[in-house]
Amino acid sequence: MDICVQKFGGSSLATSEQRVHVCDRINEAYEKGCHPVVVVSAMGRAGDPYATDTLLSLVKSADSQQDARNLDLLLACGEIISAVVLSEALNARGLKAQAVTGWQGGILTDANHGSARILSINPKKIYSLIEAGVIPVVAGFQGATNDGEITTLGRGGSDTTAVALAAVLKTGYVEIYTDVDGIKTVDPRIIPDAPTLSTLTYREIMEMAHLGAKVIHPRAVEIGMEAGITIRVLSTVEPGKGTIISSGKEVEHPISDRVVTGIAYISNRAHVRIASEQDFNQSKLALQIFQELANHGVSVDLIYLSPNLIAFIIDQEMSDLVKKVLAPYRLNISVEKGYTKVSVVGAGMHGVPGVMARVVQSLEQAKVGIYHTTDSHANISCLIKEDKLTDAVQALFQEFELSNKEGQE
Ligand code: ASP
Ligand code: MG
Repeated sequence: MDICVQKFGGSSLATSEQRVHVCDRINEAYEKGCHPVVVVSAMGRAGDPYATDTLLSLVKSADSQQDARNLDLLLACGEIISAVVLSEALNARGLKAQAVTGWQGGILTDANHGSARILSINPKKIYSLIEAGVIPVVAGFQGATNDGEITTLGRGGSDTTAVALAAVLKTGYVEIYTDVDGIKTVDPRIIPDAPTLSTLTYREIMEMAHLGAKVIHPRAVEIGMEAGITIRVLSTVEPGKGTIISSGKEVEHPISDRVVTGIAYISNRAHVRIASEQDFNQSKLALQIFQELANHGVSVDLIYLSPNLIAFIIDQEMSDLVKKVLAPYRLNISVEKGYTKVSVVGAGMHGVPGVMARVVQSLEQAKVGIYHTTDSHANISCLIKEDKLTDAVQALFQEFELSNKEGQE
C-alpha cells in the first residue's frame, strides 16, 4: 500500500467542526488506497487554549529571559495535545489512529533549542503502526536530541516535520492543508482578491519565505528540494488543486517564463546609516562595526558598504542596542525606525533587462520613496516607509500583472 503524508495546520484543527473536515481528508486518502501518515500543528491561533502563542504567553515576562530548554518542553505540548485530540476524533469515526510524539516517531535533532534541525528519522514506530493498519498522527514541530532532550524546529516547523517524514518514507509527495486555497501572489490582507498560484518552484517559494511571506517553513522547502518531494499546499475545507511546489521541470508552462511570481515584505525594520570622512577601506572600522554587531547578536540585512557610507537594516527592536554598541566609535550614525522591505520575487527575472526600471517607475507613480535597494538572481528588494506599504504592494501588483499570469488559476 502507498503511504501519503498529510499535514494539517493549526487553524484547520481549532474546533471539533473543523476537525471533521480534517478527518474527511484523511478518510478520502485512505479510501483511495493510500495509508495516511498525518502530521499536526498545535490547535488554533493566539488566544486559543493550546495554541503555540498561548503556551508561550504563560511564561512570557518582560524582565526574564526564558530558558530555551524549558520553552521547548512547553511548546512541544501544543502539538502533542493536537495529535491526541485528532487521533481520538479519527478513532470515533472508526478509523484506527494513534498519536505519536516527535521522539516516539524517531525524529532526532541537534540541540539547538528553539530552532533545532532534524538530523535523522528512524521510522520504525511509524512503519509498525502502518503495518498494524493504524494511522500515525505525528506531533509536528518537535524532536529530541541523542540525550533525550525535547527540541522544537522553529516557528512554522510542522511543515518541516511533514516533508522530512515524506523524504524518509519515500512518498515523493506531501500535502500541506491550511485555511486558504493555496499560495497567493501577494498577502491577501493587502490585495484581498490576490490570485492563487497553481505552481511554484522551490527556489521561488524559498525566496518568498525568506523575504517575509509566511507561507511555508523555509527548511521544509529545502528538504523538499534535496529529496525531490512535490509539495502541495491546499485548503482543508475545499481542497481544490491548491499550489504545487516542485522543481518546475514537470509543469506545462515553464515557470521561468514569469518575470515576477509574487510580492513579499518584512515590516518593523530600522534603517542604519553610518557616514565617515575617512575611507572605510583604509581603516579597520568597517570590520569593527560588523564584528561588534555580530558579537551582540544583531543580524543585518540590505547591506551596503562603500568608502564613505555603510548602510543596512535591522529589526527595529534592535535599534537601541545598535545605538549603544556603536556609540564608543563616535561615528556619524543615524538609526531610523518605521521602514518595510518590500520585494518582488521571481526565478525568471535573472538576466531580464528592465525589471528594475519597472519597479522604480511603478513606485514613483504611486509616490512611494525608495531608500535603499538590493537584489539577487530571483528578487529585487526596496526599502520603503512603513506607511506606504499598501500603495507599494498595489503598484507592484499592477505593474507585474500578478492578477493575471500564466501558471495561476
Ligand atoms: N505550532 C508551531 C507554530 O505555531 C509550529 C507550526 O505550527 O508549524 O509555530
Ligand atoms: Mg504553518
